[in-house]
Amino acid sequence: MKPRILIIYTGGTIGMIEDPDSRTLRPFDFSHLMENVPKVKMLNYEIDNIQFEQPIDSSDMNPQLWELLARSIADNYDKYDGFVVLHGTDTMAYTASALSFMLQGLTKPVIITGSQLPIGEVRTDGEENLITALQIAAAKADDGLPMVQEVAILFENYLWRGVRSTKRSADHFNAFRSSNYPKLAKIGLGIAFDIDALDRRKTKKFKFYPELDPSVMCIDLFPGLTESTLRHLLNTPGIKGVVLRTYGAGNGPTAKWFIDAISDACRRGLIIVNVTQCLNGSVNTKRYLAGDLLSGTGIVSGNDITFEAAITKMMHLFGRKLTRSEVIKKLEKPLVGEMTITHS
Ligand code: ASP
Repeated sequence: MKPRILIIYTGGTIGMIEDPDSRTLRPFDFSHLMENVPKVKMLNYEIDNIQFEQPIDSSDMNPQLWELLARSIADNYDKYDGFVVLHGTDTMAYTASALSFMLQGLTKPVIITGSQLPIGEVRTDGEENLITALQIAAAKADDGLPMVQEVAILFENYLWRGVRSTKRSADHFNAFRSSNYPKLAKIGLGIAFDIDALDRRKTKKFKFYPELDPSVMCIDLFPGLTESTLRHLLNTPGIKGVVLRTYGAGNGPTAKWFIDAISDACRRGLIIVNVTQCLNGSVNTKRYLAGDLLSGTGIVSGNDITFEAAITKMMHLFGRKLTRSEVIKKLEKPLVGEMTITHS
């Protein structure tokens, strides 16, 4: 039996062409993309495709499009062995995180890839990324089951857990990384999977959560943030959740006005998650007084979660219409392998 793979083309540089007038790159259609990768036929897979009606630069990604994308996987889940999503790099880590929360208990691969150079360019990284993504989507382990059973990003030399990944470079071919989780695979002459890093639990049951609630925002700490700006942001109408990007191990100013503003917001019912601005490492508010004071406000520790995962996890939990305490409980522990808890 040939592996059956569904490619979903959303847009991104991989399928873009240069506008002759403005010389800027703009999204183009899927047939153009496939014409440039005739080698795909050599894989001998059964490949179907769907594309966004209007392919996008991924800077235009939004929760409605995530629902459309997740639904196109959920609706076709039984028909295919694996899924390859072609996507722009700019918001790829957000999409990978959102899909991880929307498509829980996956036992099949959802591999997201794209490229830094358009597929039509001579030195494109798109051809190799697409072909490797297809091979990973078709890969089976010794037990005969799909090797990858989660949402992952394939880019150049590495396969990353989607919900742990971040775009780290606007220029390099190795554009993604996950600083707090091992690579799922290293791509060289072959594809070397790290079987221990992959989520291949036996007890999974696929469940699709279509709803996302975008009533969330982010506040980034910086020396000089004033009380009035902070209070203004925390009082933004319609907001239910905030990702607070703090310093180091989850620290913030020790000033009374700061602690009071965060405490007042939590008391009012806002849910605030503490995520570090550092690329690597975890929130551990027991380490410094500056963290300990903040932890007394009612803020929830995001441990070593990425910003992308924290913001989409909140959208997912609010979308499930859970109570405030249920949302907090679920934020405190990993749902889909998005964080490691190392501190109590
Ligand atoms: N702006 C492009 C996008 O995200 C960048 C890329 O694909 O690399 O769609």
